[in-house]
Amino acid sequence: MTRPAMIPIGLPALERPPALQNLLVMKFGGTSMGSAERMRVAAGIISAEQKKRPLLVVVSAMSKVTDLLLETLKRAEVGDRSSVDRSIRTLLERHLEACRDLFSNGSARQHQIAATESVESLVAEFQRIANGILMLGERPPRSVDEALAVGERLSAALLAGYLESAGIPSRAVSAADVIVTDAVFGNASPQMDPTRLKCTERIVPLLEDGIVPVVTGFNGATPDGRPTTLGRGGSDFSASILAACLDARELWIWTDVDGIMTADPRLVSDAAVLDQVTYAEAAELAYNGAKVLHPRTLAPLVEKQIPVWSKNSFAPHKPGTRIVGHFDEPKGARAVTSMSNVALISMEPVNAVLSGTKLMARALDALALANVEILVFTSSSYRQSFCLLVRKHDLEAALEALESNLSIELAHGYLKPIEVDENVGLLAVVGEGMRGTPGLAGRVFTAISREQINIIAIAQGSSEITIGIVVRLDGLERAVRAVHEECQLGKPHIAATLS
Ligand code: ADP
Ligand code: ASP
Ligand code: MG
Repeated sequence: MTRPAMIPIGLPALERPPALQNLLVMKFGGTSMGSAERMRVAAGIISAEQKKRPLLVVVSAMSKVTDLLLETLKRAEVGDRSSVDRSIRTLLERHLEACRDLFSNGSARQHQIAATESVESLVAEFQRIANGILMLGERPPRSVDEALAVGERLSAALLAGYLESAGIPSRAVSAADVIVTDAVFGNASPQMDPTRLKCTERIVPLLEDGIVPVVTGFNGATPDGRPTTLGRGGSDFSASILAACLDARELWIWTDVDGIMTADPRLVSDAAVLDQVTYAEAAELAYNGAKVLHPRTLAPLVEKQIPVWSKNSFAPHKPGTRIVGHFDEPKGARAVTSMSNVALISMEPVNAVLSGTKLMARALDALALANVEILVFTSSSYRQSFCLLVRKHDLEAALEALESNLSIELAHGYLKPIEVDENVGLLAVVGEGMRGTPGLAGRVFTAISREQINIIAIAQGSSEITIGIVVRLDGLERAVRAVHEECQLGKPHIAATLS
């Protein structure tokens, strides 16, 4: 099983003024920013914490706004002006409504005017880019990133304005001025050293003045200032990048569930909250589909062992899940997760003339160049056939890369035509305590077979922390429930005592 890449953090910790040595970074997700009411709750949490220590806030766009922006740009690309206009009206109205509601108190009139102006000018900015795409008939990735950043800029402007109106000094900050990334539009990676310097220039002075920065999640900019985004769900990652660069004491991620659970509660009704998980467990869960965290969130925090809490903004008194380097991990599996938007690519040489190993090397090289992430890779048979699992949205790029790199072998019949199966899903069982627990894999496979679900491919890394299983898509949810039940994950204390 491939692991999320670690990001090297090169510079030593900068000397921080004492006032910043206890910094808390808090990230509020889309549902936690989804309406004026939710923003008021977030502001209540912020107000309580900023009294105790320096605080930096990272925000997502209001729920569903990024989807709306993306869909609008797709409509623009195909020339559908009336739906573009309709979506822009929806976007404007949703944020103006939040504005009216947030600043309904008469004394907040000045703040309401300022927030309304910000909303109107940001929506106009989005409209300008959408109009450009309408005219061009194409969606250049860098314009998409610039347009998508508007979602977070809108929510940051509203929350910062509201905090100010409530007497909490605050400033909306665009991450394009702070987080420096490479130029992989749509899935950019941070450059930690320049980001650390920008934090020192832009964020530290605000914190020293007792101002709460409200930084846009999800986005950044290249060293020459071109806006980028960090991949869908990337605000968690933004928060961890900033926490690492500012040597924060803790990162709290506010979402809409009680923490990291033994399974997605939308699939498994008796999923239970885990009180602690390790960075590695959380990263494996996220990487294998648990939407509660962006897969790259943990990497920047590992080196400095910055603890993360995943907490529910709908039930802020609950403790949530603590994510740390190590604790006395219980034996057995801890959680099961799944991914449905995947495709399995299978390749097989026609005969032994073509070395299977060389073929695999060429295939992997082609996919790496095309920036395609491989979720599972297995090869076992004498015939040197192998298969790899990729995300569906990478499938086209993956096939293009494989077919062009291996065009001669395919044309001359050394390689069988590449097969694609889109009717599959990935299930992953995760737990540090699975290491050296004999019989666990057998029980998981038996539980899946009992449901008459055919296992198509299996991958387990030598770290033994994750078993990845590819099954038919129509059996995926049943398989998740069967494994959850078999490993008694809904009753974590019982599972913990099983060896
Ligand atoms: P946010 O908008 O706060 O970033 P997300 O929607 O991205 O929130 O992530 C939270 C969702 O993740 C939950 O509503 C839940 O359905 C889903 N989820 C999937 N797997 C898990 C899991 N193992 N534990 C908790 N939540 C999970
Ligand atoms: N708004 C972005 C998205 O929906 C980033 C995030 O919410 O984390 O993907
Ligand atoms: Mg999220």
